Amino acid sequence: MRLVLLGPPGAGKGTQALSISERLGVPHISTGDMFRQAIKAGTPLGRQAQEYLQGGGLVPDSVTIGLVEERLSQPDCQGGFLLDGFPRTVAQAEALDAWLASRGEGLDAVIDIEVPEAELLERLTGRRVCRQCGATYHGQYNPPAVAGKCDACGGELIQREDDTAATVGKRLEVYRAQTAPLVDYYRQRGLLREIDGSQAIERVTRAIGASLGREWR
Ligand SMILES: [Zn+2]
Repeated sequence: MRLVLLGPPGAGKGTQALSISERLGVPHISTGDMFRQAIKAGTPLGRQAQEYLQGGGLVPDSVTIGLVEERLSQPDCQGGFLLDGFPRTVAQAEALDAWLASRGEGLDAVIDIEVPEAELLERLTGRRVCRQCGATYHGQYNPPAVAGKCDACGGELIQREDDTAATVGKRLEVYRAQTAPLVDYYRQRGLLREIDGSQAIERVTRAIGASLGREWR
């Protein structure tokens, strides 16, 4: 199955991505991870991406698309993939479609995990991260055993600057502006599977399975 995963920050996309790729036996391709890997491996596109990032700029579509195509050409993607973080724009979605079509392939579905804005704000601003090991907690939904301390390593829990109310509001706004046209694009093509992400994690996973015609327990 060839899938794209969409969802705003705080929708639980990372957790669901792991679950989906494991159940379907397809690689989870996160463009964020991919950039880091390509840069580390020093591939020609990785070097280009690094130049843009070092210059403080955005990596242009042509480079991002090149990297994704490079990754999707690997043998482990022959049986399908789960794309996360790409496409971000309609232009990228069109490029992906054209590239897949040139190989006689196409996407099977686009999973869109949706959570009401107020709940996203609550989830994100309540988030605390371990300064030492990066484990995440939530004041309300997933509190540590001892307030302010990491269960795993005893490290100090902090609020990332990204997770303050002002920044979260801005991030969500940017996400909506960027992905709304993308959601329409995939809806028009009959690929969009809208999933209610405000349910418990296991229920979200089951709903995703059901939207793909699978029964996941
Ligand atoms: Zn820790």
